[in-house]
Amino acid sequence: MSTATSVYPWQQEVWAYLQGYLEQQRIPQALLISGPSGIGKRHLANAFAASLMCRMPLVDHSACGHCQSCTLLAAQTHTDLLVVEPDEPGKAIGIDKIRQLIVKLALKPQFETSRVVIITPADQMNTASANAFLKCLEEPTERTCLILLTEKPSRLPATIRSRCQSVQCPPPDRKIAVTWLQQQGAREDADLLLSLSLRAPLVAKAYSEQGLIGVRKAYFDVWVQLADGKQNIVAIAEQWQKAESLDLATLYRWMSSWVADTIKIAHGADTGSLQNPDFKKSLQALAERLELTGLYRFYDDLLMAQAQLGTQINKQLMLEQILINWSQLNIR
Ligand SMILES: [Zn+2]
Repeated sequence: MSTATSVYPWQQEVWAYLQGYLEQQRIPQALLISGPSGIGKRHLANAFAASLMCRMPLVDHSACGHCQSCTLLAAQTHTDLLVVEPDEPGKAIGIDKIRQLIVKLALKPQFETSRVVIITPADQMNTASANAFLKCLEEPTERTCLILLTEKPSRLPATIRSRCQSVQCPPPDRKIAVTWLQQQGAREDADLLLSLSLRAPLVAKAYSEQGLIGVRKAYFDVWVQLADGKQNIVAIAEQWQKAESLDLATLYRWMSSWVADTIKIAHGADTGSLQNPDFKKSLQALAERLELTGLYRFYDDLLMAQAQLGTQINKQLMLEQILINWSQLNIR
């Protein structure tokens, strides 16, 4: 992997900052890389790890892509790159994983270059894991760089944060991200994809590949029909709940954005500030006939439902209730 070209175009600035460490041969013992989801934090960490571990780095300190180390990294078999992550997304990083890490770190790195540990998402360490991990920070091991990745740095204990060099990845520049999406062959409107993904280019790319713009339009059409009483609520709730093309978290986020945009339009917002500019005409019609107080109340219902998605709640019933509330809001 040639890292000089492989960090994403919106990461050039933060990449230059990381290269500064290599330039000065001042490799931090621990880095805390934070920033929103879907902007390539892991990718950045991999590129930095490759630079640190490469045996013949280029003049700009990026990895050569050809040496033994780079080859092993590309094959994901480099024994000096340790990745600590939950068994499943959303689950905690348990203490046994940190204990295993401590055992591994007690041994010398196998190769002559640096060893790198990537912990992602670092905020998923539970209290016991975080306490155990502190030991790694307090008793540094030779030639080892610990890289912690997180969307929510504030969830990490201050004792951990204070021992890491903080590197913040801001959301990407819109123009750069749109150009990149087009180069990636985004079939639909790259600008719209970026808005829908809340400016996360990697999420936008996945949306494009899954054809989610079309899926979203189909859902929105049903949403408007529900408002007009032209759909069977129970049947739709069941269909949406079981749909494989769309997860419920995304569905709730979409519904929230439709309601938020309706409220914005009722307040006279311009098209540029909408998350769904392509639906403006339909949303405008909804804004004209719905009461603002009801919309606000319903928006709260949606947020509450979103917060309960990760619990044991009956999701079919919850979605039915949301759609009932939505259709009742529309009866005048
Ligand atoms: Zn190399």
